[in-house]
Amino acid sequence: MSVEPHDIARSHAIAKKVFAKAVLAKFDLVPEVYGVWYAYYAASHPRLNIEVDAIVASGKPFDITTFKDLHTRHLKTDEDTDTTQQILSETQLLLKGVFDEIINANNATADYGNSLKTYTGQLSHATQAADVKSIITSLIKDTSAAADSGRSLHDKLAEATARTEMLEKKLAQTEKEASIDALTGLRNRRAFDTRLRELYAGFRQHGQFFAVIMVDIDFFKKFNDTYGHQTGDLVLATVGDTLHRSLKGDDFPARYGGEEFIILLPETSLENAVIVAEQLRVRISLKKIEDERHPDVTLKVAASLGVSFVNQQDTMQSVVDRADKALYQAKKTGRNRVCSERDLA
Ligand code: GH3
Ligand code: MG
Ligand code: MG
Repeated sequence: MSVEPHDIARSHAIAKKVFAKAVLAKFDLVPEVYGVWYAYYAASHPRLNIEVDAIVASGKPFDITTFKDLHTRHLKTDEDTDTTQQILSETQLLLKGVFDEIINANNATADYGNSLKTYTGQLSHATQAADVKSIITSLIKDTSAAADSGRSLHDKLAEATARTEMLEKKLAQTEKEASIDALTGLRNRRAFDTRLRELYAGFRQHGQFFAVIMVDIDFFKKFNDTYGHQTGDLVLATVGDTLHRSLKGDDFPARYGGEEFIILLPETSLENAVIVAEQLRVRISLKKIEDERHPDVTLKVAASLGVSFVNQQDTMQSVVDRADKALYQAKKTGRNRVCSERDLA
């Protein structure tokens, strides 16, 4: 993997800020702490920065629990995955290497300072050219050793920043893989849960409303039973693709479970969400699916949709439940149709 020079320079600059902060605030750079400050100075997670700024402004000290909490909520992807564990231990090793080097460099610099003092003293007493020559020889040797240790630290930092950059990319990839449903390419249930939590918080804190559309394929079991599981999968992928292509901007489609999908629509009224749902229903019903395993048939698919809109009494779960109830109503009243919470008795 190649790392662009400007990326290295940027990571280098960020890593330096983190190290400086660690020295100044006297905290141990365990991976969580390093991760939080790295993300902070990289400005990669705006919400994390807002929280960190608030803590700094409050004057409360940062303890390891605070860092672990910030790390879990903003940066942690899936601690259980091998990749993440591996990245964590790599980071730990990386930090240890850099710190050993910093300590070496500091010791070398302190030694150099002491040598200079000694030579200055010796010089004031030197009477012969041979004494001066010997002092100068020692001075050159020590100066060069101190410079080498500085260079070694510089090299180590450059290597550390390049590796940090790689680890950051690996983490981003892990995060992406952990949030995508492999069959449909849509976001998975876990990513949906995270987005719902964010939207619900936005609603509670800032009154930003949102709508929910739940989609369930009609008689999906028939595709599996008649043509086999693989054809069923093809139908699912096609519906997923239709949702992906039909929705734009902030709309957030995800695979909710088996043959159910869910869409979060920020800043969208119930009326408009019903219009969107109806367009989706039509697009799905117009799909003609060709399956090479069954060249003699063209598969037609239909779906029922339920729509809800967040209200003051809602919990995070109840607004989804209402979309589900509306969906059930659509199934009960004939399928291949849209019902909204207004259709519920
Ligand atoms: P309804 O119109 O009432 O929704 O009927 P349905 O047949 O769509 O619903 P039902 O809940 O009876 O069946 C859903 C089926 O979806 C059962 C399950 O085996 C199948 N299924 C769930 N996940 C997958 C998957 O990933 N791939 C395939 N091929 N089938 C799946
Ligand atoms: Mg279902
Ligand atoms: Mg179904």
